[in-house]
Amino acid sequence: MNEDAIDLRSDTVTRPSAAMREAAADAEVGDDVYGEDPTINDLQARAADLLGTEAALYFPSGTMANQAAIRVHVDRGQEVLCDRWSHVYNYEVSGLAQHAAAQPRPVDGDRGVPSPEQIEDAYVEPGSHHAPGTGLVALENTHNHRGGLAIDPERIDDAARAARDLGLPVHLDGARLWNAAVARDVPVERYGREVDTVMVALSKGLGAPVGSILAGPEDVIAAARDVRKLLGGGMRQAGIVAAPGIEALSNVDRLAEDHENAQVLAEGLAGIEGLSVTDPETNIVIADVSETGMDVHEFGDRCREAGVLHTDMGEYRARFVTHWDVTREDVETAVDCVREVVA
Ligand SMILES: *Cc1c(COP(=O)(O)O)cnc(C)c1O
Repeated sequence: MNEDAIDLRSDTVTRPSAAMREAAADAEVGDDVYGEDPTINDLQARAADLLGTEAALYFPSGTMANQAAIRVHVDRGQEVLCDRWSHVYNYEVSGLAQHAAAQPRPVDGDRGVPSPEQIEDAYVEPGSHHAPGTGLVALENTHNHRGGLAIDPERIDDAARAARDLGLPVHLDGARLWNAAVARDVPVERYGREVDTVMVALSKGLGAPVGSILAGPEDVIAAARDVRKLLGGGMRQAGIVAAPGIEALSNVDRLAEDHENAQVLAEGLAGIEGLSVTDPETNIVIADVSETGMDVHEFGDRCREAGVLHTDMGEYRARFVTHWDVTREDVETAVDCVREVVA
């Protein structure tokens, strides 16, 4: 790999700061399977506080946290009502089927959020011989595949209330919920008001090396702890990796810089003939490359040679993500590299 390349594949590629490394080195630790790691306990308490929930649990990854939540919420064979482009449905190795033995019921949500009408229409009543019924509504914010859309709290509330009227729990996949909160200028806890559980990542825009949080009511989190153990996520002196996570919680406001850099990147890319770019709401920029005569793989190969890395989200959709380790200057250089590629 090109070591000097500007890496816009994801906000997961950030390297921990000096403060994070120091926090790791100095962390007090214990055996977290026994609940005795003071650093983990501190992180969980702070996260619950920030998210306005009774309890929170540290997970090695967002995928494991989402999947544990789903496993806790649904009974075997039940349906998970979600957006057709949701992460839990598209990018978690069919975990719905593998861990919860659940069946997805995807709908085409407006900006990725099922509307109350869609939830009512897609709801399957339990109790018949033919269908175990709907067990959960899963929401996502920011919406990754749809381009880092920052969903308004009211939209989340509306969907959650519709679910609750049907007796359904709601899980919010908020891997980048921090970005949504910054973009919509609300405290992150505002998003947790009407949902049952929420997952947030420490290892994306906030820059921690490892970890995500699942937050929710005491009893649900206790059950999720058992599922985490089942999935092999019971960790021992994990305060070493959780300590940078505590450090990371103070990086929320900094995300505004990533959003500004995404704006600069989007404007630059939009100025290149052949690229069609949607106006970013957070730190994700999606460029449609279909008018360049290349598919996203060829485009990606050439970009890599030119010194810019991105990922693909569909045959002609390139995804660029800004983060802590890219500067304004890097973003401007990246635009120049892509311009050469397209020319
Ligand atoms: C990254 C991401 C996840 C999964 O997080 P990992 O820590 O990579 O497992 C889940 N949902 C969304 C929306 C994400 O962007």
